[in-house]
Amino acid sequence: MTSSQSSFNDFTTYITPSEMIEFLYCNRFIYYMKCLGISQNEETRFKVQMGRNLHERKEKINKDYVRKKIGSVKKLIEVPLISEKYKIKGKVDEINFLEDGTAAPLDYKFAEYKEITFKTYKTQMIFYSIMIEEMFNVKVNKAFLVYCRGGNELVEIDITQDLIDGSLENINSYNRIIAGYYPPATKDRAKCLDCCYRNICVR
Ligand code: SF4
Repeated sequence: MTSSQSSFNDFTTYITPSEMIEFLYCNRFIYYMKCLGISQNEETRFKVQMGRNLHERKEKINKDYVRKKIGSVKKLIEVPLISEKYKIKGKVDEINFLEDGTAAPLDYKFAEYKEITFKTYKTQMIFYSIMIEEMFNVKVNKAFLVYCRGGNELVEIDITQDLIDGSLENINSYNRIIAGYYPPATKDRAKCLDCCYRNICVR
């Protein structure tokens, strides 16, 4: 079955960027959620700040400025993405097709730039890049984030082959867990202190 024959919501087992970010926070989250079916308590759930009201975020942006700054010649907005090859999915705010013949995902974040959240956003943007290359048969060398708080800062991310290879390795590791492998606990014990699984998680 091809993606054109299916609706986006049909791909329920495909990995989303937020699931991958949870996996990277602690591999065991995925085991408890996906293998044992124990969902995270909403109160204590590890929250991924993926952004809020899209309309509110975008209103404050001078999009023409962004378009010129990144060299965009055409863009698609709010694009559902799928990789049938790697079984991942997501939805990107924009795909920009650039003057040099490459494409670049762009997401608006209702946030200020912070290193800790930047890592999670970067994971998300690598996922989008993999899917854009597969769906549009175009090279992706960079991705962009617009931080709507703190002066609409535009941040460029180089999408290197190393980053893509690392992301594909993480997808393999994620799939091992789905297949039943119980992964080691996180090395960062501070993460366990307020984890909703701490009463069942032996370490
Ligand atoms: S208690 Fe620690 S090792 Fe276990 S799932 Fe939570 S964060 Fe991971």
